[in-house]
Amino acid sequence: MLIFATDHFVLPLPPGHRFPMAKYARLRERVAAVAPERMREPPPATDEELARAHDPAYVRAVADGTLDERAMRRIGFPWSPAMVERSRRSAGATIAACRSALEFGFGVNLAGGTHHAHRDFGEGFCVFNDAVVAARAMQAEGLAERVLIVDLDVHQGDGTAAIVGDDPSIHTLSIHGRNNFPFRKRSSRQDVELEDGTGDETYLATLRAVLPLALSASRPDVAIYLAGADPFVGDRLGRLTLTKAGLASRDAYVLDSLRAADVPVAVAMAGGYAEDIEDVVDIHFATVCATLDRGAMKGRASLPGCSPTTPSSSPTRVRSPG
Ligand SMILES: [Zn+2]
Repeated sequence: MLIFATDHFVLPLPPGHRFPMAKYARLRERVAAVAPERMREPPPATDEELARAHDPAYVRAVADGTLDERAMRRIGFPWSPAMVERSRRSAGATIAACRSALEFGFGVNLAGGTHHAHRDFGEGFCVFNDAVVAARAMQAEGLAERVLIVDLDVHQGDGTAAIVGDDPSIHTLSIHGRNNFPFRKRSSRQDVELEDGTGDETYLATLRAVLPLALSASRPDVAIYLAGADPFVGDRLGRLTLTKAGLASRDAYVLDSLRAADVPVAVAMAGGYAEDIEDVVDIHFATVCATLDRGAMKGRASLPGCSPTTPSSSPTRVRSPG
């Protein structure tokens, strides 16, 4: 399996900006230390690929830097040619991770998960919607007919929901905080809203109830997993109280369930806004290690350097939803 990094396409931000740009370089360093032979640079998403999810006029305006001030404020980044290149590479990385998944069972984008990007505007640090761009790339190339997006970022993927609409070939399961951004939610195929303070036990029970339904309803050829680090108790924006162990159990359950159903999976990192950036990096790194454990190290219990070892879960012990 292959891992795609885009952190060297740096998006220039003013001092004090709250987007945690530094996490990507730290994460790449840690992943490169355990799996250097699997690291790749993804190609940028092309205009044609982006236009399968976005209004071509929006893609052009992003590329040319002609979005107005209000549209740029909504995205939350200052425009620069580097911002455009980074956004293209991040979407390209999810496309590439899907290709890796279809070939090897798993693929990873060390960024991505920009699920607040709509068809003709960006929002909340999201310029292009990498998951929909990648899903439609696989469909357009005849590599997949049906795609499951498992969106476990703590915020609802309103952009994904709005772009996909009632397209039955892309099924999104979103588990998110009821009181979190975006305050106006859009309807995904399957939305599960959690109250503030939801912890490991309720979260995992919910996941075990709904993921099997998503799998049986969508019968996907490939899945895209948005493994947000922001349900973490230490997250500044998350409002939930999952521990690192709980998030590792979440990842294990998702990856094992998809593997048991023989569904290739591309993993994207999505959000993470903990006070200490090392906590965010720890959580993302554990997700990558869990994927490597399953995708790259057949016959070995865990990858040296990947610690703590993520638990494996038993998708056969699924509780039937009530
Ligand atoms: Zn988020």
